[in-house]
Amino acid sequence: MNKQYWNFSAGPSKLPREVLQQAAEEMLDWHGSGQSVMEMSHRGPEFTQICDEAEADLRTLMDIPEDYAVMFMQGGATAENAILPMNLIARNVSHSADYVLTGIWSTKSYKEATRYGTVRIAAQSHQAREINGHEYAPWTWVPTFDEWKVNSDSSYLHFCSNETIGGVEIGALPNMDALGAGSVPLVVDASSHFLSRPLDIRKTGMVYAGAQKNAGPAGVTVVVLHRDLLGHALPYCPSAFDYVNVARERSRFNTPPTYAIYIAGLVFKWLLAKGGLAAIESENINKAKVLYSQLDSSDFYRNPIQPEYRSRMNVPFTLRDDGLNAAFLEGAQKEHLLNLKGHKSVGGMRASIYNAMPIEGVLALVDYLKEFERKHG
Ligand code: PMP
Repeated sequence: MNKQYWNFSAGPSKLPREVLQQAAEEMLDWHGSGQSVMEMSHRGPEFTQICDEAEADLRTLMDIPEDYAVMFMQGGATAENAILPMNLIARNVSHSADYVLTGIWSTKSYKEATRYGTVRIAAQSHQAREINGHEYAPWTWVPTFDEWKVNSDSSYLHFCSNETIGGVEIGALPNMDALGAGSVPLVVDASSHFLSRPLDIRKTGMVYAGAQKNAGPAGVTVVVLHRDLLGHALPYCPSAFDYVNVARERSRFNTPPTYAIYIAGLVFKWLLAKGGLAAIESENINKAKVLYSQLDSSDFYRNPIQPEYRSRMNVPFTLRDDGLNAAFLEGAQKEHLLNLKGHKSVGGMRASIYNAMPIEGVLALVDYLKEFERKHG
């Protein structure tokens, strides 16, 4: 039998095998309708059912109440970085928002927002810091919530809950009352750990995620928004990106990315069948523990992140000797371990172990890590 491939890509990334199998079976004829999902009218009864079910299943998975709109949009999280200030920054008269910067993605969100209003940095980890006697490099640590300086007149506070490149995850949500900003809604870019753990949507104003890491294929961005925040779009906001229109038309103001929504819907059903977000979270905790324990077991490999903020999804690591990088990647490829090269800004390696990566894939990587160290250590 051919040896199985394991894909550690940061995104687009591995999808559950069962989902791809079902999509293959339904490719030519969806449920006896005589059409592929790709060929359906987005206003016909078949796609209406697919889209409504995807929304309902996501509401069940994340326990999203009716006072939040669920929207399937386009343009990825990068477009959402612009769409969200266009919709939200004018909530207050000063047209201002606060951003926490913990890495490359939150910094991009911040820069994009500066085009639409006054944007302030509430906290950032752009410099090195000593914590418990250890020196952490920029973007490898997280300012504690009590250091976040939020203006009470801000239209929202933005942060990225999982920095995909840096491998930094903020698992908890700040208590906005304790920050003296109880009325400021939290806006979270959760792209790369969306649906990997429970998230209390009621403590947020908005959560958004490009689907192509944990929720489906590229092409759909999931946006969950409290309806109280609707209705403040800047006059030049394109109508297809005005949340009022998208929420009212339940993601069908114009033609949505129908096939990507269909696959995301299958992923939601796969997660529900597994037992929901608490169940997948315990798998993810276990997978991350297995991989980090191996990396920590000697100084041959190194993950640079402040331990309490190590991402369960994206695990960057370097080899003691950079000169071995090419041999490491070549050997990995031979073992069918794909896409382990780190992001160019960080170097080294990165293993993304999203929901769809089973423990067997992580164990295959751990075996390879051990073997490579034995040969070269
Ligand atoms: N935010 C985060 C946390 C990401 O990981 C990414 C993509 N890697 C983006 C935003 C940008 O997403 P997209 O490429 O879909 O625009």
